[in-house]
Amino acid sequence: MTLESLGWNPVFAEAFKAYEGRDLIPGRIALQHRTYYSILSEIGELRGEVTGKMEYLASGPQDLPAVGDWVVLHPRPEESTATIVDLLPRRTKFSRKVAGRKTEEQIVAANVDVVFIVSGLDHDFNLRRIERYLVLSRQSGANPVILLNKADLRDDHKEIRKAIALIAGDIPVILASALKDKGLDAIAHHLKPGCTGALLGSSGVGKTTIINHLLGSTRKTAEVRENDSRGRHTTSARELILLPSGGLLIDTPGMRELQLWGEAEGVDETFEDIEELERQCKFRDCSHDVEPGCEIRAALEKGILEPERYESYKKLLRELAYHNRKYNEVEQRKEKERIKKRTSQFKRNFPKGKRS
Ligand code: GDP
Repeated sequence: MTLESLGWNPVFAEAFKAYEGRDLIPGRIALQHRTYYSILSEIGELRGEVTGKMEYLASGPQDLPAVGDWVVLHPRPEESTATIVDLLPRRTKFSRKVAGRKTEEQIVAANVDVVFIVSGLDHDFNLRRIERYLVLSRQSGANPVILLNKADLRDDHKEIRKAIALIAGDIPVILASALKDKGLDAIAHHLKPGCTGALLGSSGVGKTTIINHLLGSTRKTAEVRENDSRGRHTTSARELILLPSGGLLIDTPGMRELQLWGEAEGVDETFEDIEELERQCKFRDCSHDVEPGCEIRAALEKGILEPERYESYKKLLRELAYHNRKYNEVEQRKEKERIKKRTSQFKRNFPKGKRS
């Protein structure tokens, strides 16, 4: 295994320079288990754990390795194990709000070049869900591609492409049928050797079938369990896979909840058409309710803007604002606790009489 075949490039090499000459090597996280990681490296697959210091210094899960991350390792080749001493800066990251009540970022896949938003053309096909994935994909820094699987179930491909173009503009669209082994070559086309893709989509859209076809075999996936929002256990193995064509693919299990995380720019880019209409309104602070010269209302009336798309835009913006407000509250609370801890430490170290 060469580093290049795992997606190494000059940007990571530059970041790794600071660790050279110290018996340390780079490795890429392939799978995250409950208490350890499977890591791919030039000396093969290693089982690794992060140092206590890294864990202690992490302000949240986002500071710890996720699948696709490049890490700095102290290897023990004779045992095929390693200690993870640091995390190299991420080039891109696909994040969501962690499932459940906590207001934390969960990194679903790191250092991804292409995000494949997978949908099934069955009863579950949902444009609004694709919009949600598009927002997060655009925030990730990776290039989105829409992969419509189960194309064998419908004939109205032209209409489907038209409907997708309305929400996704010129983002590439692949129509495929993993079951009939059709259209999957296009995935490899987007993943040149050393490029990393991630398959994202709800459970049941056909991700496992797609991967099995790309690998030409039936693969068994290790299962990692985590609690979901309702306290149930769900399987959630995110795994980095090397494809025979030379590309890399991160398989993510179906995510029951895909709540937004990050800044609003992903929404702005995904809904560029609505943002443009808003800019054309007569009043800059138009609420699109009663004001004259409102371009949003005009577009809705003329049928240029679909009410569902406009509602989706408002809903996603509201959701993002809510999580950001919550996140800031949590951060403020954490900061207060940090100050309190430092103050009491100071008082302990320097009792009143001893301060100058
Ligand atoms: P995952 O949960 O996303 O990994 O989905 P799976 O790969 O397990 O597929 C879910 C179901 O959809 C299975 O019954 C598959 O046989 C079926 N499926 C997958 N791809 C296709 C396809 O292209 N066409 C049809 N008709 N069914 C498919």
